[in-house]
Amino acid sequence: MNPFLELGIRHDIVNAITELGFEKPSPIQEKAIPVLLTGNDDFVGLAQTGTGKTAAFGLPLLEQLDFSFNQPQALVLCPTRELCLQIAKDLEKFAKFMDNVHVVAVYGGANIGDQLRQIRRGVQIVVATPGRMLDIIGRNAIDFSNVKYVVLDEADEMLNMGFQEDINNILSETPEDKKTWLFSATMPKEVRRIAQNYMTDPFELTVGTKNTGNANIEHNYYLIKAKDKYAAFKRIVDFYPEIFGIVFCRTKIETQEIAEALIKDGYNADSLHGDLSQQQRDKVMKRYRERNLQLLIATDVAARGIDVNDVTHVINYSLPDEVENYTHRSGRTARAGKTGISISLVNVKEMSKIRHIEKIIGKSFERKQVPQGTEVCEKQLFAMVDKVHNVEVQEEQINAFLPQILESLQDLTKEEVVKRFASLEFNRFLDYYKEAPDLNIEARDARGDRDRDREPGRRSSKGFTRLFINLGSVDEFNRGDMLGFICNKSKISGKSIGKIDLKGVFTFFEVEDAEVEKVFQGFKSVEFNGRAVRIEVSGDGRSSDRGSNGRGRGRSSDRERGDRNGSSRNGRRDRDRSNGGFRDFSGKRKESRSRY
Ligand code: AMP
Repeated sequence: MNPFLELGIRHDIVNAITELGFEKPSPIQEKAIPVLLTGNDDFVGLAQTGTGKTAAFGLPLLEQLDFSFNQPQALVLCPTRELCLQIAKDLEKFAKFMDNVHVVAVYGGANIGDQLRQIRRGVQIVVATPGRMLDIIGRNAIDFSNVKYVVLDEADEMLNMGFQEDINNILSETPEDKKTWLFSATMPKEVRRIAQNYMTDPFELTVGTKNTGNANIEHNYYLIKAKDKYAAFKRIVDFYPEIFGIVFCRTKIETQEIAEALIKDGYNADSLHGDLSQQQRDKVMKRYRERNLQLLIATDVAARGIDVNDVTHVINYSLPDEVENYTHRSGRTARAGKTGISISLVNVKEMSKIRHIEKIIGKSFERKQVPQGTEVCEKQLFAMVDKVHNVEVQEEQINAFLPQILESLQDLTKEEVVKRFASLEFNRFLDYYKEAPDLNIEARDARGDRDRDREPGRRSSKGFTRLFINLGSVDEFNRGDMLGFICNKSKISGKSIGKIDLKGVFTFFEVEDAEVEKVFQGFKSVEFNGRAVRIEVSGDGRSSDRGSNGRGRGRSSDRERGDRNGSSRNGRRDRDRSNGGFRDFSGKRKESRSRY
């Protein structure tokens, strides 16, 4: 008998989830479903993302609601739009063979009119982010008097994002006798407080150990010099040719800069951060989900709720300030029973942070050596050989050319042909990694740091400070417009502005040191097209959002990324030109880089 039937799930739901490939319940489903099916208990489930939580609460909901009645009976609150859409979609899939099941996804950044219309038409399950839900409640557009179940999904994330008060307000709109089911990856005291305030003697379930990460995640760190970080990062990425990863940075600027550098270096990468419009974010996520991006560079906040399966690596380009965030970050890999690797790039000073994280998550990190150039070449070579082995041959199309191809190659033996095909790509890597230095910290210490001052980095011109503004060419600025805009808001003369480096979603510009304060003052609470405009000193994180008593300024501390342009220090530049198809994931080759 199907194990889901044994748990008490009916045939039409089991048929639907069987189609989705669910053969047996995940641990949380196995334990939670029988409890939730009774409908008698409040419930607290401590489980990581990717453990099958959605079905753990979704199947019991579908079992217990009365779908002949078109009123909201269940409310699922979750932190992000992405998760909201995902849950709604999953519930619809589970209900594929059931009649009259109506689920609505209610989230910000989308047309509220459409959502209100769906609610008016009649829904039984509302999946919502707290802000938009409150908005709809405020319009008296929904009746929660028949709600029997409230699910708080990723409760810790919701609280992290400041939704505590919204949640209180929403819950106060629902009937006293409803049951509350709370799921959270971690159990900080704030979450515990919700359980105490809103639940009666809840049934508690922990899958895995409290506060620890998923057992399927391997935690590795690489000890490097800060200035070698970008080079080491690229080398690690190259060492895993099939990597499908999320790279975490600490600030929006760093996110954007790393993504830009990677794109320049020929990788399929893009950034996800709070300065992007919802539409831009959706676009990036779509490309990532569809595997047209190999690396997603993200801030913690922007990456919340990302639930893409098969992420092979999470890379902490910068360690998070909060250990909780490390758990969230690493939980983006090893979903649905798969394994994954969480990598941290650290310098000596950051080792204490690693030890601290180890204590909290109860897992040891393993130190790994940054691969040598030759090791990367070998890895790439065999990845290419595998690709050749597995490539799908379009028989009909290729057959037309085959005689001609064979004729051209007839003077070569099979071995020679193989060697040449392999060399097409291999040579590029050999070239790139010729004389590549050992980036592990001991080797760097032994070598001394003589070349530190020669690191190429972008510094501001003498007497000028390099600032960042979160507006760029996508906001339809050209350099002239930007100059005018800055002068106008800061009330300074155009002569005080130096170089303006206009990028897609942001711009760097230089301002005379003496005028920097005026720029910060002038841009306090400025909005552009409904978006808060933010000024920061490039590289030090000081922001106009945080007032003007920030940290020291006047320097552009981009040294860490000195190696960004393909290790120019070693006379090798822009590997994208020498790297061709290796960087393209799932066999998709960018025309512009393809010479063949
Ligand atoms: P969730 O934690 O609900 O986001 O689920 C993570 C992923 O695991 C989703 O892609 C689900 O479709 C999948 N999944 C959930 N339960 C099962 C199961 N019992 N068997 C196989 N896959 C599952």
